[in-house]
Amino acid sequence: MRRTVLAALAAMLAFGGGACADNFPSHPITLVVPFAAGGPTDAMARILVERMQNTLGQTILIENVTGAAGSLGVGRVVRAAPDGYTVSIGHLGTHVANGAIYKLGYDLVTDLEPVALLPSNPMIIVSKNAVPAKSLGELLALLKARPTPATAGTAGAGSGSHIAGLYFENITGIKLQYVPYRGTAPALTDLVAGQIDIIIDQTSNSISQVRAGTIRAYAVTDDKRVESASDIPTTDEAGLPGFHMTLWSGLWVPKDTPKDIVAKLNAAAVDALNDPAVRKKFENLGLQMPPKDQLSPQALGAWQKAEIAKWWPMIKAANVKVE
Ligand code: ASP
Repeated sequence: MRRTVLAALAAMLAFGGGACADNFPSHPITLVVPFAAGGPTDAMARILVERMQNTLGQTILIENVTGAAGSLGVGRVVRAAPDGYTVSIGHLGTHVANGAIYKLGYDLVTDLEPVALLPSNPMIIVSKNAVPAKSLGELLALLKARPTPATAGTAGAGSGSHIAGLYFENITGIKLQYVPYRGTAPALTDLVAGQIDIIIDQTSNSISQVRAGTIRAYAVTDDKRVESASDIPTTDEAGLPGFHMTLWSGLWVPKDTPKDIVAKLNAAAVDALNDPAVRKKFENLGLQMPPKDQLSPQALGAWQKAEIAKWWPMIKAANVKVE
């Protein structure tokens, strides 16, 4: 009995040592990217960690845990020790929409602690070059006239690209046939190769292929153009007024992570977001920086809850089937 108590005490002390903010971080941190390498979440993570690890004085390793629209990667973080060494990066899809679609086995709000809001970007409607449309109006006419739905690449049921597709179907009445991938990096490879017809993708993912002329862009889903791609019209200008969707991202850690460790991670993320070199890289990808007064963990928590209230009813009404 006594031995058990002592062993428990020793374990608590050891654990407490690992989760103490004074020496945090004393060994490498893992950032779990829940989509394929080379995609938009992965690209954002790599820019961010390069700078965050300077502030923290520790290596941050990226682990791509893909599948089920990012829900497997988020689950890996939920189950990790609450010591700040396993961090989740995700977005409106992984940390909002998936809760309305999957039986997750975890709660996106109560099983995670928010750390910081990250940049966001509007979606961009892109097609393979073989689609003979030169404007959004022509694309919509072609999609409506087809006897069978066009194929639309997504990062899985509930991913950003899929929610954007559902929203598009709602607004236009056009049906799409979704083709799920483990991230929009492989979806984009297939679009360039002409294997699928369209993607409603994160701007940051598609923009370099649009610039290279290997795919065609029709509109960004916002009321203002993206500065670094100002020749692409907004959906308002191109004929789908009100089709607005901005995919915001964030960082989370497992629930019960000590507040001072969350604060250290938050400070490192905020440092990175304030660094002009980092901002330039994000802006080149068409990403928009989060408002300066929304960078606290509490602001992300409140925002995530507000987004759940906004999107879950629409997603549940769409009755998304998970394959
Ligand atoms: N963010 C995902 C990715 O990194 C794509 C998506 O959500 O559609 O591939």
